[in-house]
Amino acid sequence: MSTTSAKIPVGVSQCLLGEPVRYDGGHKHDRYLTEVLSQYFHYRPVCPEVAVGLGIPRKPIRLVATDRGTRVRGIAEASLDVTEALEAEAERTVSAMPELSGYIFMQNSPSCGVFRMKRYSEDGMPVDSAGQGAYARRLIERMPLLPIEEAGRLNDAALRENFITRVFAYHDWQQCLEKNPSPAALVDFYSRYKYQVMAHHPASYQAIGRLLADVGKRDAEQVNREFIALFMAALQHKATRRGNTNAIMHLRGYLKGLLNADEQQELSGLIEQYRGGKVPLVVPLTLLKHYLRKVDNPYLQKQTFWCPHPENLGLRNVCTD
Ligand code: SF4
Repeated sequence: MSTTSAKIPVGVSQCLLGEPVRYDGGHKHDRYLTEVLSQYFHYRPVCPEVAVGLGIPRKPIRLVATDRGTRVRGIAEASLDVTEALEAEAERTVSAMPELSGYIFMQNSPSCGVFRMKRYSEDGMPVDSAGQGAYARRLIERMPLLPIEEAGRLNDAALRENFITRVFAYHDWQQCLEKNPSPAALVDFYSRYKYQVMAHHPASYQAIGRLLADVGKRDAEQVNREFIALFMAALQHKATRRGNTNAIMHLRGYLKGLLNADEQQELSGLIEQYRGGKVPLVVPLTLLKHYLRKVDNPYLQKQTFWCPHPENLGLRNVCTD
């Protein structure tokens, strides 16, 4: 992935790229985004507050809980209400960038914040932390399948791995199935993701299996819509050590009768160390992959579970829960 066109299109809060668009003329440059993920993501930056004409610098705004729902109003100037303008900007992004495969938002922003945003009463007292930025909220409503995350939360190794996994998987689906679903393409697509879904959420693995069992008897577009909703919801569950161990044990079943006693013991030991949090996932997976070369099985080789995101990111080289 060296050219812009080969990179995955991802929306981003513009200040995270180091551009001085914040209310005070500053930025929130995030080097992980610009120096690491930029190798794989083609960013589509938006600063909704600048886009709606608030200017730089500008007077700060905040979320206000009112009888008419959550509003975005000026702190010093309560008559300034940009709620509808920010929502309209989200609609413009949805129309202009339907190809997005993910979105990274700046946290703690009344426009871009997604999680635990503070809301205030009309007289300025803190009410709760149940708000969402007006731009982010509308965009998420209109693109409910889109993988989204806040930049600050990407510092958490498990959340980071989960978000990047979802972006790559969603992009894969957009390329393979969004416009041309057929029963064969759906089955082929999912056959690559079975062990990954098993690692993330076994109940979804069963549900998707049931859905695709009837794929030839139903309208392919309808099944595709149901599939992607189940698939993205499944991947939203973190692949825990328990889930990954479950998938590894199923894959290990293909080695039955092919390993000698020492090899079996070595593999069991590493799986157990991973399960106990002593070594990262890459350790048992590397050995399992090595042994599975003994099995000439294209279905196994094509599993995304081996490599759901670029190895260079090293997302499986750290111990997580
Ligand atoms: S958080 Fe959003 S609205 Fe605020 S400066 Fe960054 S991009 Fe602009």
